[in-house]
Amino acid sequence: MADLKGKTAAVTGSTSGIGLAIARAMAKAGANIVINGMGAPADIEKERSAIETDFGVKCVHSPADMTKAAEIAEFVALGEKTFGSVDVLVNNAGIQFVSPIEEFPIEKWDAIIAINLSAAFHAIRAAVPGMKRRQWGRIINTASAHSLVASPFKSAYVSAKHGIAGLTKTVALELATFKITCNCISPGYVWTPLVERQIPDTMKARNMTKEQVINDVLLDAQPTKEFVTVDQVASLALYLCGDEASQITGSNLSIDGGWTAE
Ligand code: NAD
Repeated sequence: MADLKGKTAAVTGSTSGIGLAIARAMAKAGANIVINGMGAPADIEKERSAIETDFGVKCVHSPADMTKAAEIAEFVALGEKTFGSVDVLVNNAGIQFVSPIEEFPIEKWDAIIAINLSAAFHAIRAAVPGMKRRQWGRIINTASAHSLVASPFKSAYVSAKHGIAGLTKTVALELATFKITCNCISPGYVWTPLVERQIPDTMKARNMTKEQVINDVLLDAQPTKEFVTVDQVASLALYLCGDEASQITGSNLSIDGGWTAE
């Protein structure tokens, strides 16, 4: 397992779901943590202090809104000011919206492109100078099976996720000689609030019951017929931080129960 003692991991969208599991896995490996994301202040404080007490590291919360470039730069700066560096950057914040394209709300398109794609650009742009100075870094983007294949009614999400796969490859090439790797992880369906929230709209768009959406849409995509777990995604992210992964860069790593093998 990667040893991250003395390092800092900054994880966007880590007050919930996959991001929280990644933040906790990085903390378990010894990193100080910058968590980020929305939620009730008391809930965020509970998660923040649990990371400190469970793993004996320091953890701060950045309230940066991933639709705002200046706030994203402040998220990176908070890690650098508080802990001296951001060594691992995980671009994970994401939202979903499901709708036929002709009815797709323009503001939802803009928000998905901003949070799921442009935010990663802004965070990488802010974190790379420090990583280059220190000659070490790990950039991990949470993409999706939807970075490789499409599904109907998810035009913005599929576009953003295909985009982040391209950004990952470009950044990997630019940083290849600086001991900085950049990869994306592409999960299939992981049972998190993001998946739970899209069920009502999918029921409407496809005229299905909740059970039909879970079995005939979500799990139908995955040959294993099982959801991926947040801890499985977090383990893969942590693996990418280790020395054993130093030659993995520019990769799009699927963890999708076989979805994209079909
Ligand atoms: P989630 O809803 O549980 O968590 C999303 C996180 O992003 C939360 O912490 C939320 O507060 C944060 N966030 C949302 N908008 C934000 C904003 N404007 N600024 C800052 N933070 C914001 O979702 P999740 O399922 O854990 O998704 C995490 C990532 O994994 C996303 O990029 C998603 O696209 C990707 N993903 C999820 C699945 C899945 O099945 N759950 C599959 C593939 C990829």
